[in-house]
Amino acid sequence: MMSDSEKKGLVFNVQGYSIQDGPGIRTTVFLKGCPLTCLWCSNPESQLFHSDILHSTTKCVRCYRCVNLCKKGAISLPKNPGAEDAFPIINHKICAKCDDHTCVYGCYESALSDVGKLMTVDEVMDILLADAPFFQQSGGGVTLSGGEPLLHDEFCRALFKECRNQYIHTAIETCGYVPWEKMKPVMEFTDLALFDVKHMNSETHKKLTGVPNELILSNLQKILTETKTAVTIRVPVIPGANDSDENMHATAEFAVKVGVRNVDIMPYHRLGTGKYAGLGREYPLGLDVTELPKERVKEIQEIYQSHGIICNVGG
Ligand code: SF4
Ligand code: SF4
Repeated sequence: MMSDSEKKGLVFNVQGYSIQDGPGIRTTVFLKGCPLTCLWCSNPESQLFHSDILHSTTKCVRCYRCVNLCKKGAISLPKNPGAEDAFPIINHKICAKCDDHTCVYGCYESALSDVGKLMTVDEVMDILLADAPFFQQSGGGVTLSGGEPLLHDEFCRALFKECRNQYIHTAIETCGYVPWEKMKPVMEFTDLALFDVKHMNSETHKKLTGVPNELILSNLQKILTETKTAVTIRVPVIPGANDSDENMHATAEFAVKVGVRNVDIMPYHRLGTGKYAGLGREYPLGLDVTELPKERVKEIQEIYQSHGIICNVGG
């Protein structure tokens, strides 16, 4: 049987010095794969449960070397080679995600990258322990994010168990859409759950994210009643999707009912839109959605405060 330290998760980023992912200075480990497909997702490279090839149009110099490097025929010349916007065309359906990543290592401009690497608990702990002095000074710790980290539940549990052994605070960002049997064992070693609530109406939730919300709300209540993990609800606020007064009041009432005192609102931003083109995908929310005015963010914050909730605005 595999030991805890050998358990693996598909990691696509480890970000030190994070200040938005829980208390203090944190190191955030992003795991790949998500059961939701939120229209506004700013980390589309996190959604699939396997590695992806990401192309950067800002780094690419259109040398087309990669076309010949790929022996699977997954990269082809554009219609008008040499033109300013004529980048190589990557067929992500044909791409075999080959282990040696010939295209990635053969691109002298680093315009191609492989997103997602299987890492053991030991390998990730080495990184976290190097950052531990920052955690101690700031009251920080480690946060698991994604994607949905709980799709890698055994890895999460083993990593957090080791963090507990090292007195490192543990937080997890979750969309909540995993079976309770997978979530509960991880919560045993989780100090704080940053738990997304995207819409209180299940049908609308399904339209926006691809899944209904019953399992999510039920899991949130179970964390509060069956574990010692603290919960902060996180609400991504997306103009025209879930930002109505009605939905904000309904979310606040739910928080009060289940006994959550902290809600972070996360105003919509467009930072991830460029990644869709690099993955050969379209941005599903559409590019005409604009960021929320500051006054509206304040109004929404006041809605939560009117229910007696401590409401912070996150990034
Ligand atoms: S991705 Fe790299 S190898 Fe391919 S055309 Fe761009 S710069 Fe050249
Ligand atoms: S990962 Fe392999 S199959 Fe995919 S584009 Fe690169 S070389 Fe081709």
